[in-house]
Amino acid sequence: MRVARFHAPGDIRLETDPDPVASDDEVVIRVRACSTCGTDVKISRSGHPNMTPPQVMGHEIAGEITQVGRAVDGWAVGDRVQVIAAIPDGTCRECRAGHPAVCRNQLSMGYQFPGGFAEHMIVPREVLAVDGLNRIPEALSFAEASLAEPLACVLNGQEIAGVGDGDTVVVIGAGPIGCLHVRLARARGAERVILIDLNADRLAASADIVKPDLAIAAGDGDIVARVLEATGGDGADVVITAAASGRAQELGLQMLARRGRLSLFGGLPKDAAVIALDANLVHYRELSVLGVNGSSPAHNAEALRLIATGAVPVADLITHRLPLEQVLDAIELVARGEAIKVTIEP
Ligand SMILES: [Zn+2]
Repeated sequence: MRVARFHAPGDIRLETDPDPVASDDEVVIRVRACSTCGTDVKISRSGHPNMTPPQVMGHEIAGEITQVGRAVDGWAVGDRVQVIAAIPDGTCRECRAGHPAVCRNQLSMGYQFPGGFAEHMIVPREVLAVDGLNRIPEALSFAEASLAEPLACVLNGQEIAGVGDGDTVVVIGAGPIGCLHVRLARARGAERVILIDLNADRLAASADIVKPDLAIAAGDGDIVARVLEATGGDGADVVITAAASGRAQELGLQMLARRGRLSLFGGLPKDAAVIALDANLVHYRELSVLGVNGSSPAHNAEALRLIATGAVPVADLITHRLPLEQVLDAIELVARGEAIKVTIEP
């Protein structure tokens, strides 16, 4: 089978591997869709601390079961499935407290285990042990189902930020994650959604699809003033930064309403992770600054349900579908911000 394997920054190779065989407690899938994301760009350029090369990349995975180990219950050849990316151990302090997204022993598909940029992939026992395999409803395509993983992370972020009825939500960053945030905020009852991006072309393309109430190109002057003006001076109930920008985080805090919540969804480069935070704004206005890290298996199941019911449509976010042989082109498309979602169909 063909796979795309990361060897070193700038060195991703298309290689031929033997087809995998399921052990007793594993399942093998024929990968039908594996979507690319900003993390794939980061890995391709600078590697990742949790990833020991060489490794098959790809973590937004959907496919069809082709082998079921003898000790595996509940799955059959031909079942269509979506696979979690972040795998909690289910036993540590955080997992026992019901917070598997911050499991201290978390493993990941495409990092410690071979990922979905491959024709076939083993679903490891660690995934099956935490209910990490989700049945794809019939009406849903594999490509749509592959977006359950990023939507699961977005869902975790909005649960933590308490996005709900009547909220004014600002999303900074109009990439695929920003688009999913706009759609999910609406599904959760947000009254007003404002989308902001530095890149006016990308903002226009994304706004055309997800239709925020207001789109603000960050180059057009002071975005804090624009948000305050658009909210009658109140500010936003929730600001979500879906961009690797410390400046976006600093400005996001300043555009919050009293008791507002700032969700730091996008991580920062590790050499630029310290920001200037006005502690008195947090203090006097009772603001909350909230982190978010990936998602749980339950978030994946719920995200797949949100896509399947039409609460969060994703088909129109998939702007490019490419074969595995063009995975490097796919990663470049994502890096240039010209695509919304690029799905590899191995
Ligand atoms: Zn754990």
